[in-house]
Amino acid sequence: MASDAPAAAALETRLKRLIAHGGPIPLADFMRAALLDPEAGYYARAEPFGARGDFVTAPEVSQLFGEIVGAFLVDLWRRAGAPANARLMELGPGRGTLMADVLRVAALAPDFLSGPAAGVDLVEASPRLAEEQRDRLAAEAGRIRWHAALPDPMPVPTFVIANEFFDALPIRQFERRAGAWRERRVGVGEDGAFVFVLGPPTPLPEAPDADVPEGAVIEVRPEADALMRTLAAHVVRHGGAVLAIDYGYAAPPLASTFQSVSGHRAVDPLAAPGTRDLTAHVDFAALARAARAEGAAAFGPVEQGDFLLSLGLLERAGRLGADKDERVRAEIRAAVERLAGPEAMGRLFKVLAVTAGDVAPAGFDRVGPSP
Ligand code: SAH
Repeated sequence: MASDAPAAAALETRLKRLIAHGGPIPLADFMRAALLDPEAGYYARAEPFGARGDFVTAPEVSQLFGEIVGAFLVDLWRRAGAPANARLMELGPGRGTLMADVLRVAALAPDFLSGPAAGVDLVEASPRLAEEQRDRLAAEAGRIRWHAALPDPMPVPTFVIANEFFDALPIRQFERRAGAWRERRVGVGEDGAFVFVLGPPTPLPEAPDADVPEGAVIEVRPEADALMRTLAAHVVRHGGAVLAIDYGYAAPPLASTFQSVSGHRAVDPLAAPGTRDLTAHVDFAALARAARAEGAAAFGPVEQGDFLLSLGLLERAGRLGADKDERVRAEIRAAVERLAGPEAMGRLFKVLAVTAGDVAPAGFDRVGPSP
């Protein structure tokens, strides 16, 4: 896609004027504008995915990923008593690849997604990506609804998937200095570039205070926590589950994970807002806390490699390669390594499942529900 330099320059000017008049802004405001501004935001303009884009997500690596997620969801729906009128929801569906693979597997269980209220909800903030999803999922369009933000879920069991979605939601950062927490805000330096500036000392409700080293950074993601609470409350009341897959940590690393990957390389995340992806690792403990605050059960996080292997990645890969030539088999082996290998996505990426507590999902047997 052609780069839209004037729109990016206009966004940069707008942010700099905002800072000139109101002072440094929370990182969350910078991130939200850079990613989602309707004219200049990264997701509104760029083509993020694939070898020629900025990064490759698991569903774009191989259909095996979406097929396993699909089989997992159908199994979970069965464990929940196979309710009629269930809905599938995906947050941030990207190119629609994961949903296409999930629906192909789900078609093998025709009772799943049956009943007058059954269907699919796609939550996508980017009109451009929603268009791409419409093309990709044209054959299924009759039962899909698109939403620019999380809708009030219908009062039916809802099975929600989010792959590399939570990492894109805005974060705020706080840094430990001389026994106090200060917000890391975005200001403009003397050379005219965006820089981090520390705000005044501020109390933090959930921050660890004891034994935190000087310079430690904690990250909070209010929108992610609020969204998880809404979904968990829905699951407790009406049934269903939430499956969140992302790169992230089970315990906060006390350091910044704010990053930008452009053309498969790490670049300065504060430079040229709108032209590059901005993310931070997902705090799975915070998501699990949010779910439990609504009375839901949180399982995991487990590592993506363990999750996929325990759900039959190798067997499925073997079947996929059975009637193929050696070149295709080598590609399948490489995809398995990429999805599950500890040096690739297998360990950094983690999986969290949330249910009402009466249903235990497959793939989490090693860990059980977290306390
Ligand atoms: N799940 C896809 C895409 C991941 S990229 C995959 O695995 O390939 C993040 C996706 O979330 C994009 O589709 C982006 O447009 C969408 N997104 C980011 N922030 C969003 C928000 N606040 N609300 C809705 N969608 C959002």
